Amino acid sequence: MASPTKDLKQPKPLPAPNPDFYEFAADLPAEELAIVKKVRDYLETKVQPVINKYWVEDSFPFELLPSFKELGIAGLGMNGYGCPGGSHLLVGLVGMEIARTDASISTFWGVHTGLAMNSIYLNGTEEQKQKWLPSMARMEKIGCFGLTEPLVGSGTGGGLTTTAKRDGDTWVLNGQKRWIGNAPWCDISIIWARDVADNQVKGFIVENKATPGFSVEKIQNKIALKVVQNGQITLDNCRVPDENRLQGGQGTFRDTARVLRGTRHGSAWEATGIQMGAYENALKYAQERLQFGKPIGSFQLIQELLAKMLGNIVACQCIVARSVQLEEEGKLNDAQAALAKAFCTSKSRETVSMARELLGGNGILVDYNVARFFADAEAIYSYEGTFQMQNLIIGKAITGFSAFV
Ligand SMILES: Cc1cc2nc3c(=O)[nH]c(=O)nc-3n(C[C@H](O)[C@H](O)[C@H](O)COP(=O)(O)OP(=O)(O)OC[C@H]3O[C@@H](n4cnc5c(N)ncnc54)[C@H](O)[C@@H]3O)c2cc1C
Repeated sequence: MASPTKDLKQPKPLPAPNPDFYEFAADLPAEELAIVKKVRDYLETKVQPVINKYWVEDSFPFELLPSFKELGIAGLGMNGYGCPGGSHLLVGLVGMEIARTDASISTFWGVHTGLAMNSIYLNGTEEQKQKWLPSMARMEKIGCFGLTEPLVGSGTGGGLTTTAKRDGDTWVLNGQKRWIGNAPWCDISIIWARDVADNQVKGFIVENKATPGFSVEKIQNKIALKVVQNGQITLDNCRVPDENRLQGGQGTFRDTARVLRGTRHGSAWEATGIQMGAYENALKYAQERLQFGKPIGSFQLIQELLAKMLGNIVACQCIVARSVQLEEEGKLNDAQAALAKAFCTSKSRETVSMARELLGGNGILVDYNVARFFADAEAIYSYEGTFQMQNLIIGKAITGFSAFV
């Protein structure tokens, strides 16, 4: 018979942090699960060891690009043109998984694949897809998406100031784009500009390094998503051939909105991933950090923080799980995507702030990861449409009144 005294002295193995509390990923087919696992292993072994250094330095880890390409996740969810295909759920889970380790890397990936490649995939002609997508799927060419301008942020639907003027079989682009992720170093920009002839917004594929009049300045001094390089693009009489105008859509702002619907939803997945990463780091810390001679995780008030974080995570996972089903069925509308983005990003601000609090002073040190999640959650709250803009989209859908202006 085992001695009760001896049993009491055995240290109990502590549960490993598990942010998938409701076995959210369990229904994924084995081959898709294997992709998520491959991405997780990569992020944990290759990205985690170096990411804080790059974040502090405000620089992009180009050393990781060759191995990142090998993951084969550029163009995920797109079929043909050298893209790997996969379900919407897989795309969401991969975005969430990357953000679980680092939201700058998920943003870099999201801009290249969800914004730049998807603009061509959804709005390009067959010929344009054949020409541009395969090298982007191999990540030989990296893309960015230029919609926001220095003077036009939330109001892009109401009027861009960047102009496109047709001149024979070329277009002349003039204006500026601000905040454009990947722009300071990437190869291809999708530039959205207002056609001066019909006042409609059209998309253009611009080759950054080979188009005279195209220049980019890196935005300095960011306090969030510091690894992503954001740029201010200036287009000074940039000539683009008509064959680079996205011609497979309607040639209006609806084309832009179609791309943004998917990535807005993608931001909800990212915001969920950030919370998972912050929670795991906080829980591990709570299990190890001793105060008053005990792990702080054994204190009731700390357990309450952890339970609240987990509640937020599960709520966000449930929203994205359902909205991705709607997306899979082609039924996800703008207001539903907006609700997912608004809810998950606002909950992510709460969750990372609780994680930061739990770490005490170490919560403001990048070395413990949580401070990075804490700062990065702020940018995701604002990009792809701010919290207010998402709520205005929801408000219009549920009341029937537009309150944008
Ligand atoms: C890190 C980062 C990466 C980004 N990457 C890209 C990118 O790759 N490509 C790209 O095109 N853009 C990108 N953006 C731009 C982003 O989409 C914009 O920052 C965002 O749309 C908000 O625009 P703004 O910053 O100009 O804020 P503003 O539009 O000036 O808004 C300021 C405030 O006013 C509020 N507001 C505005 N209008 C209303 C209203 N009608 N009612 C109530 N409140 C209102 C907003 O919610 C916000 O709180 C990025 C931004 C960041 C921070």
